[in-house]
Amino acid sequence: MGLKINLHITQKCNYRCKYCFAHFADREDLPLESWKHIIDNIKQSGEIDAINFAGGEPVLYRGFHELMEYAYRQGFQLSIISNGSLMMNPILMPHQDFAMLDTLGISVDSVDSKTLVALGACNASQEVLSYDRLATLIRTAREWNPNIRIKLNTVITSLNSGEDLSEIGQSLSIDRWKMLRMKLFSNGVHSNADLVVGDEAFSSFVDRHRDVSRDVVPENDLTRSYIMVDNMGRLLDDEGMDYRVVGSLVDEDFSSVFPRYHFDRETYESRYEVAAG
Ligand code: SF4
Repeated sequence: MGLKINLHITQKCNYRCKYCFAHFADREDLPLESWKHIIDNIKQSGEIDAINFAGGEPVLYRGFHELMEYAYRQGFQLSIISNGSLMMNPILMPHQDFAMLDTLGISVDSVDSKTLVALGACNASQEVLSYDRLATLIRTAREWNPNIRIKLNTVITSLNSGEDLSEIGQSLSIDRWKMLRMKLFSNGVHSNADLVVGDEAFSSFVDRHRDVSRDVVPENDLTRSYIMVDNMGRLLDDEGMDYRVVGSLVDEDFSSVFPRYHFDRETYESRYEVAAG
């Protein structure tokens, strides 16, 4: 099985989630040509067959449509993880792009707009992704691509651990639902320590949602099992409370950089046992 790589193509985001770890470096995003080079680079390695576009909010990367098309033409299986709030804007992402996606991933942390605002999962006008907007997005994606898989990501924090999101799973027929325990992040500038959730609260959230999707994936710890490239094209090691640069995929071959990352293949593969993707 080939591996999936997560390309965090931009840091730009219209949300300000308090738990967010997309604070890699204060620099501009790489130009499109550099990302195309990185896609060629990982293609040549033969180790990667799937690309997940992440951010920031990936549709805010200038040239996102062209980049996705480039990766699609190279034969990669494509997915995206988005906050969903801008995906219906055809200037940022034409609707036909849904047809290139194997999986549409949307972050949904709460059904309560007050909780979403408290988490920072809203734009500058405190608009959140309402249930209706989420339903419209999923319906549109399925109209353009009847085979698209819908995945939700929920980050469990101290603010939403008591919630019940079952209704979303039942009414929108969610194919896969990742429940991620918030990772403690602290680099001296940013910290999410006040949102840390305990073992028991995390487990009871997962137990409460066992039946919300065909494929529920609890993620207690992603350390070294998530292949992450930051917006400067650098492979990162996520051990500890901050990130360490393993190497640049702009300057070096993926095949030279990847062996320096202590990849936990066993944990990675266990995540894909229930269903591929
Ligand atoms: S939507 Fe995602 S990228 Fe944006 S602030 Fe929230 S967690 Fe970070």
